[in-house]
Amino acid sequence: MINDNYSKLPGAYLFSDIARKVQSFKASDPGAEVISLGIGDVTQPLAPAVVEALHRAADEMAIAATFRGYGPERGYDFLREAIVRHDFHERGIDIQPDEIFVSDGAKSDTGNFQELLSKDVRIAVTDPVYPVYVDSNVMGGRAGTLGADGRWSNVHYLPCTAENDFVPDLPNEHVDVIYLCYPNNPTGTTLTRDQLQRWVDYALDKNILLFYDAAYEAYIQSEDVPHSIYELQGAKCCAVEFHSYSKTAGFTGIRCGYTVVPKELRLPLNPMWNRRQTTKFNGTSYLSQRAAEAIYSLEGKEQIQATIHYYMENARLMREALTSTGFQVYGGINAPYLWVRTPDRMTSWEFFDHLLKKAHVVSTPGSGFGPSGEGYIRLTAFGDRTQTTEALSRIKSLNL
Ligand code: PLP
Repeated sequence: MINDNYSKLPGAYLFSDIARKVQSFKASDPGAEVISLGIGDVTQPLAPAVVEALHRAADEMAIAATFRGYGPERGYDFLREAIVRHDFHERGIDIQPDEIFVSDGAKSDTGNFQELLSKDVRIAVTDPVYPVYVDSNVMGGRAGTLGADGRWSNVHYLPCTAENDFVPDLPNEHVDVIYLCYPNNPTGTTLTRDQLQRWVDYALDKNILLFYDAAYEAYIQSEDVPHSIYELQGAKCCAVEFHSYSKTAGFTGIRCGYTVVPKELRLPLNPMWNRRQTTKFNGTSYLSQRAAEAIYSLEGKEQIQATIHYYMENARLMREALTSTGFQVYGGINAPYLWVRTPDRMTSWEFFDHLLKKAHVVSTPGSGFGPSGEGYIRLTAFGDRTQTTEALSRIKSLNL
């Protein structure tokens, strides 16, 4: 017998549906030069400091005296200490190395962390949402059944739309766990420090656990947007935070991230996650961890900032071009994503098809991220500059 929860999951992953559509379009129009502003992968190469660290680590592996085999499941001390110093202590946040768990990226940890929860807890997600939070809870048997409206019966949805300025209301019913992701994928919007403090206060008051995904933290430009939930009073008692080097430093292929599980949490999640990881995870590769450490060097910091600046300049150009063409555009100020309202009341998929067929531009239909994503598409600023500007001029010339 199989785990029946898997059979509840809808057939395909959003990006496979998109890939299928793009493939069939290319087959029907082989001459078309398709530009993707769809999937959220990066395009710029690794920082030179990271590449040097990778070479050095590879050379160490070639000599018996410096060869490394299995590493510590929680991650090497050199990386956990660098994380604590640069990502937390420099921001005045007291996090200790034994609260850091190095991972192979935030997808694994945001997907796996629900294993520590009882099958009976009720989760809440912002809607639209990064699909991993919901799907992993479906696999864990916590989501109930999928309704015709695209909502799971046991999941509480917190709509984020232009109407509420993408700031979700606090839940109006009992929940045990809330997933928050800021800067947000897919909407590219953020919460200010005051707005996030409301969620922390609420969680403390109602005994709720917060899962805070900070995968896009490096893109924050505004002073009043927190980089970590632990900047806020009381968060160490109620929040687990997920980080990723994928978008921070182009590690989508290298694979490295980390999760912060504070010892002050009201539940013993720190020892539980340690037990889980030591049983099921044998650590992130030494090479990836040395590469991640290099991001925190002086040159590394400067080099990754230059790439982030490049992407954010794409985002600015995209915002300007689309807004001046008459589109309603959100996000793209503290995040590499733009959330664009479809014109003429088109559905997300209708507008996706239109952009693909008429402009040969691939977007991501907002409805793929949840019911409240209907009527929007997501565009990413992770493209190469020339391709991005070409895509913008094609969209402009559609005269929508
Ligand atoms: N969290 C969010 C919100 C994301 O958008 C992504 C990647 O797209 C991830 C986590 C996964 O990142 P990683 O590459 O570290 O697994």
